[in-house]
Amino acid sequence: MSVNLLGLDAGALAGFFATLGEKPFRSRQTLRWVHQLGIGEFDGMTDLAKSLREKLAASATVEAPRIVADTTAPDGTRKWLLDVGSSAIETVFIPEAGRGTLCVSSQAGCTLDCRFCSTGKQGFNRNLTAAEIVGQLWVARRELGANRADRIVSNVVMMGMGEPLLNYENVVPALRLMLDDNAYGLSRRRVTVSTAGIVPMIDRLREDCPVALAVSLHAPTDRLRDELMPINRKYPLRDLMAACNRYLERAPRDSITFEYVMLDGVNDRPADARALLALIGEVSCKVNLIPFNPFPNSGFRRSPPDRIRRFAAHLQAAGVIATTRKTRGDNIEAACGQLAGKVDDRTRRSLRIARVA
Ligand code: SAH
Repeated sequence: MSVNLLGLDAGALAGFFATLGEKPFRSRQTLRWVHQLGIGEFDGMTDLAKSLREKLAASATVEAPRIVADTTAPDGTRKWLLDVGSSAIETVFIPEAGRGTLCVSSQAGCTLDCRFCSTGKQGFNRNLTAAEIVGQLWVARRELGANRADRIVSNVVMMGMGEPLLNYENVVPALRLMLDDNAYGLSRRRVTVSTAGIVPMIDRLREDCPVALAVSLHAPTDRLRDELMPINRKYPLRDLMAACNRYLERAPRDSITFEYVMLDGVNDRPADARALLALIGEVSCKVNLIPFNPFPNSGFRRSPPDRIRRFAAHLQAAGVIATTRKTRGDNIEAACGQLAGKVDDRTRRSLRIARVA
């Protein structure tokens, strides 16, 4: 069986070259061809000896997910639907002045079933491989054609479909490639893992690959969070806040981003802002308010703009940096929580809930 080189980080690629009886520096060369230059055919890797190229062609491939659909919103947000065999996943590029953010998926579907998220409603198919995760970046860079400042992927956020910290084994090599100077060379502050709060995995990430961390908080009390995010029953807020502080010990100059979806009448009252301030008081953080993005039968409404402004002002008055996420790409169903892809659910709903609780 041939190996897909796209998902191998520097260490794994060096190991692969060792099995071919080749020197480790070949792996650096290959990383550059594949990731920096986006070359998928070994024939094009002209500084590798012909005999090595033939060996590679016989034992390896560079295979990225295939594009099924490519949609651009009037605001420039672009969404790709990518075929990963049994399901299709989504990747979103968000151009902004001076930067471009790629929102990458980590799983086909999701097991967490957060009440306000459309991905959760699709069920869960499987974890993506490292090649499929980094392949989203590879495909996006190829499709964007780069060179123009507004088309460069300068930031990656693991905020697409799925829970990255429940696919740890595949997410970490993908992150390492994003940071590797021979591959994408992004600084660890420009690569963000967003988690619903898988406490033990936050600790492991701190040890293995401390990139920027965003935590989907969405509720200031266990009572409400238990309801909105079943995972909270397993990892309650106290444990989650402690894990955030441990994460920052590794990188004292950093802060955690808390994401907080604004749900009309659910978590957006002044009392919620006060409770939120009390909760995050001990953590060095920013708060990013996300106006709820609706999807059919969600049962929730977006908080009115005025209430979002007041909520943000409440946090700011207490000295907390609070920003409100601009809604991008919602007319192509590319906004936060709207990514659904086409998930062939392999779980039963009851099973998913049992797994989380
Ligand atoms: N599982 C990870 C990665 C998903 S990131 C996590 O939970 O962090 C997607 C972000 O969008 C999360 O903060 C998620 O809670 C938020 N989100 C989900 N559904 C949403 C919706 N309908 N409107 C706005 N934000 C939503």
